[in-house]
Amino acid sequence: MIYFVGAGPGAPDLITVRGLELLRRAHTVVYAGSLVNPALLEETPPECQLFNSAAMTLEQVLDKLCQAEGPGRTVVRLHSGDPSLYGAIREQMDALRELGLSFEAVPGVSSFCAAAAALQIEYTLPGVSQTVILSRLKGRTPVPERESISSLAAHGATMVLFLSSGMLPELCACLQEGGYSPDTPAALVYKASWPEERIVRGTVSTLPQLGAEAGIRSTALVVVGNCLGDDYRLSRLYAADFSHGFRKAP
Ligand code: SAH
Repeated sequence: MIYFVGAGPGAPDLITVRGLELLRRAHTVVYAGSLVNPALLEETPPECQLFNSAAMTLEQVLDKLCQAEGPGRTVVRLHSGDPSLYGAIREQMDALRELGLSFEAVPGVSSFCAAAAALQIEYTLPGVSQTVILSRLKGRTPVPERESISSLAAHGATMVLFLSSGMLPELCACLQEGGYSPDTPAALVYKASWPEERIVRGTVSTLPQLGAEAGIRSTALVVVGNCLGDDYRLSRLYAADFSHGFRKAP
């Protein structure tokens, strides 16, 4: 069986138990080189074949997966974070389906969750935002026009931007164009959960300069919104005067 496994954001103990068990009995692992912690590869059996997909084409990845697959074999395609986000897994799944090969996906802890942990924040703060928008600035991969950063920014919700930390001036200009005031808090989280994790805090207007000073251009997420601030309402769920199925208010 072929498994698309989320490796988690970086710290090797942030893979799921299921993912780790698959690695421990894998015959072949094809891993997304740049962002998968090599420590995870040490969990594989000594005879396991390891391939870094960083320099491969889709066709070469598929070749490796197909060659490795067979009765009683465990083949792991290891992606960073959660594979459903910017993982380019759909094209692999469709090709495998066409070849009549079955596969399963195993979710992972996405880097956007590790970034919240690093920042010690809650993205969905009552009275601030109940929505998290995950997106990216267009790069070599186009983004549909209706999902432009400025149109998404118009909601004023919490936003987490992947694959965009190398374009902070453009990103922050679009965020402000869309409606965030220049003093809206913003943060850059580099390599969340890795030993070299770094956090840069600022506002949508100051982040480009601060990011440049910190020399952060990749492997980082941009978090924007007032969930980074201190003004919010207490939750209803734990409010003393709020009854629900598990607790009666006095
Ligand atoms: N599937 C992954 C995202 C892959 S796209 C996930 O769920 O996290 C690669 C981008 O993700 C990077 O350019 C960066 O923006 C972000 N990223 C991945 N790991 C990260 C980490 N540990 N810290 C900060 N950003 C990270």
